Amino acid sequence: MIPTRFEYLAPRSVAGLVAALDEESRLLAGGTWVVPEMGRAESRPRRVVDLRRAGLARISVERSRLCLGAMCTYSDLLASEDVARYAPLLRTMATGVTGGAALRNQATIGGSVAAARPQSDVPAAFVALRAVAVVSGPAGTHRVPVAELFLGAGRTTLAADEVITGFEMPSSRTSTHGYVKLKRGGSSWPIATAATLLRLDDAGRCEDACLVLGGVEEVPLTVDLTAILGRPPGDEELDAAVTQATAALSAPWTDVLAPGDYRATVTAPVARRALTMAWANTGE
Ligand SMILES: Cc1cc2nc3c(=O)[nH]c(=O)nc-3n(C[C@H](O)[C@H](O)[C@H](O)COP(=O)(O)OP(=O)(O)OC[C@H]3O[C@@H](n4cnc5c(N)ncnc54)[C@H](O)[C@@H]3O)c2cc1C
Repeated sequence: MIPTRFEYLAPRSVAGLVAALDEESRLLAGGTWVVPEMGRAESRPRRVVDLRRAGLARISVERSRLCLGAMCTYSDLLASEDVARYAPLLRTMATGVTGGAALRNQATIGGSVAAARPQSDVPAAFVALRAVAVVSGPAGTHRVPVAELFLGAGRTTLAADEVITGFEMPSSRTSTHGYVKLKRGGSSWPIATAATLLRLDDAGRCEDACLVLGGVEEVPLTVDLTAILGRPPGDEELDAAVTQATAALSAPWTDVLAPGDYRATVTAPVARRALTMAWANTGE
């Protein structure tokens, strides 16, 4: 039960959403964060603005860019041929999300990014895919790299009257990916995630190598490994890449799942596993 009174609106357009938003309102997507918070009276919005009728669950490919509506759920990602073809990392990511069918059918990618929880899968995966968020507000629509949205745990650059309507990302068809997460058990949230994309040239050299670590700091941590993996990577190059990833960690995140020093310790093996998986996939 939600113990506070609020006005409920479900606009049928993005303009309607923006017009309904102010400092005292709260957007409702799948509600997997919002509803429990309101139930505990930790959040007491004067108005709840429901995104479900605004038509934001479309998946399309436009000029080789994958476009995902903010209301896409994990199930939508798993069912989409376009996602499988243009951003297979997302399919791997969605496969490992906990919470069962109810969560997969309800929780949205827009809600995950906007909630900006360090331990969530979606933010770091989107950063690795170089996704851009499409944000609408009173001044119009603008695009912002997802990597630039995050200010800290639970904090983003989004204003109270702005809404993410979708995401766009370049095709990663020509890259291989690795995605690894460390969890306490099958049903727990990630302690640390590593998402990596490798793109090789015709000679087998890496021309683009990026690793993004999630859960290890307040915001996703990007490590550009192109210089290190610029030749066909062997053990030595992977060691150097893992060392660089570990060195990039400056303020390890602590929560109920694990203390910061534990996360600092597991960064190297998680990064190595993701890189090894991406490298193994280059041979497919
Ligand atoms: C049982 C369970 C298991 C889970 N397991 C995992 C897991 O394994 N990995 C993982 O990463 N996550 C996991 N989650 C988290 C889940 O992915 C998020 O709760 C979910 O993605 C949030 O999306 P939502 O649509 O429910 O957001 P909501 O709860 O509706 O909203 C979340 C926040 O984002 C804001 N918001 C929502 N949409 C937008 C938008 N389009 N623009 C701007 N602001 C917006 C809301 O106002 C609110 O502040 C789990 C959650 C549960 C309950």
